[in-house]
Amino acid sequence: MIQQGNISVSTENIFPIIKKFLYSDHDIFLRELISNAVDATQKLQTLSRIGDVSGELGDLKIEIVLDEAAGTITVKDKGLGMTAEEINKYINQVAFSGAKEFVEKYNDKLEQNQIIGHFGLGFYSAFMVSSKVEIVTKSFKTDDAAKWSCDGSTTYTIEEDSRTERGTDIILYINDESKEFLEKSRIQTILSKFCKFLPVEIEFDGKVVNNPNPIWKKKPADLKTEDYENFYSELYPFSEAPLFWIHLNVEVPFTLNGILYFPKVKPDVEPQRNKIQLYSNQVFVTDDVKDVVPEFLMLLHGVIDSPDIPLNVSRSYLQGDARVKQVNQYITRKVADKLDEMFRNEREVYENKWESINLFVKYGMISEEKFAEKARKFCLLTDIDNVNYTIDEYIEKIKPLQTDKDQKLVLLYTTDSTKQHTYIANVQRKGYSVLNLNGMLDNHFVQHLETKVENIILKRVDADTIDKLVDKDEKPVSILSEEEEKQLKVLLDAKVAGTAYTVETKALSSDDDFITITKPEFEQRMKTMSQMGGMNFFGALPDTYKVQVNTNHPLANKVIHETNTDLQSKIIMQSIDLAKLSQGTLQGEELTNFIKRSSEMM
Ligand code: ADP
Ligand code: MG
Repeated sequence: MIQQGNISVSTENIFPIIKKFLYSDHDIFLRELISNAVDATQKLQTLSRIGDVSGELGDLKIEIVLDEAAGTITVKDKGLGMTAEEINKYINQVAFSGAKEFVEKYNDKLEQNQIIGHFGLGFYSAFMVSSKVEIVTKSFKTDDAAKWSCDGSTTYTIEEDSRTERGTDIILYINDESKEFLEKSRIQTILSKFCKFLPVEIEFDGKVVNNPNPIWKKKPADLKTEDYENFYSELYPFSEAPLFWIHLNVEVPFTLNGILYFPKVKPDVEPQRNKIQLYSNQVFVTDDVKDVVPEFLMLLHGVIDSPDIPLNVSRSYLQGDARVKQVNQYITRKVADKLDEMFRNEREVYENKWESINLFVKYGMISEEKFAEKARKFCLLTDIDNVNYTIDEYIEKIKPLQTDKDQKLVLLYTTDSTKQHTYIANVQRKGYSVLNLNGMLDNHFVQHLETKVENIILKRVDADTIDKLVDKDEKPVSILSEEEEKQLKVLLDAKVAGTAYTVETKALSSDDDFITITKPEFEQRMKTMSQMGGMNFFGALPDTYKVQVNTNHPLANKVIHETNTDLQSKIIMQSIDLAKLSQGTLQGEELTNFIKRSSEMM
């Protein structure tokens, strides 16, 4: 008995679109067909469990068969199969309406690019690569087998078939433009991308290509460190071992399993994104997990598997989806809890990993209010002697010495302890503590601390620091008279006239340098920030510097009383140049002049 039919009246515009316009991700046809085979197998297992299918199920392995000579790829399963009526219902009507919906969305221009790869085109994606598709299937319910055939036009045929074993073969006659899929290596690549962890064994070319029991589906209590590490190297073959991991495991209000690994972060290597793989019931979906995973954890590695995240929809839908938001919040909370627990229970271990973790913690604090609240307890500040403190511990430590006249705490930091060495030495002499904040995000982090932690300000060691901290009540008295101080300023003003430098005289302690050059803290931060952001708005502004003259330094006295004006001028220039030298900005002609003047003076 041969049956013929029309798939739908409006078919004409569907197959060409399926065939031609989905070029960017043709690979997915195999994922779709194999996941249908997996579904059919799992449904059979369920029916057997509840007693609707009797007897042994036997071997349920799914096979992918490549016949280069015939130009076909066949996906064979031993699942529940379909009767002729079911083909009619599920393939001719239901599956087809899925494809039709796809095309409607596709025509909605806005969605065009986002849709591909995020919309389950299902069975009909086979036509992206095939000139003809056949289904040969026998249901567990009946003895009759059926064969469906369609050449991508609007008509199909269904006839009886002599097949006797339960299950389904989907036979693809690969079209001329898709001959690449007839190569073994190509199929292998696709299988290892999409099918690595499918829950039913998949065989290709005589080998099982998947691991049907990945560890993320197991209970954390049944797993050892080794298991997690082995799985990590299964995912990322040549990577260094991860620092630690979080096993996600939740059933209510949504189902989510997964393992998130914290990789080692090296300061000089740009961390890689898109290393988290998203699965839906062990079917690989994407490694673009934006929105599902909070932005600050995008640098983590690992796997997330949730049948509850709606995958067969476009990106814009994913963004607004309430469940996706819940998943995102759950992951944030889990990560915060894990870090908190590590910090409380094994602080030393935690501190040893801080160099790598700090990037995540700081990024999280800057970008997520809720995370910031929790992280306040386990975010560490590291001083230049490599001692770590929590924010509160550090505040306690510096309180006695580093409170300014407005009762604000002044936190001093360096972004480069080599280049800013002189400045560090200057403040250390006063007994002040200096933090090392030289990380990728520290510029933003400094800003964050200042706004979130009450009553503190942060000053880079080479910014207007000396100023701020000496402005306490016990201000040193200048050894110069007011008149002399004015004279000194006039002398220095003359030297820097017409440059970006301005002079300020002030009585500091006698062991502070005679001349120090500083940059305004605000300008410093804006510049670094705009350089990092790639838009160089502030970077284009000229730099401004302050020449701080310590009127209590013996040289101040010497300059004022020097009667040889040539020597007087040289001492001033030499002092300014020395300050530039320790700031690292003395170069070119200025440096040449400095060297020449130095030998003359010797
Ligand atoms: P979906 O998988 O989202 O339901 P598809 O277009 O992939 O959509 O498949 C449509 C329907 O065809 C399936 O729901 C299933 O009923 C049926 N089907 C497809 N492939 C098989 C198969 N290998 N075995 C049994 N039924 C299948
Ligand atoms: Mg499907």
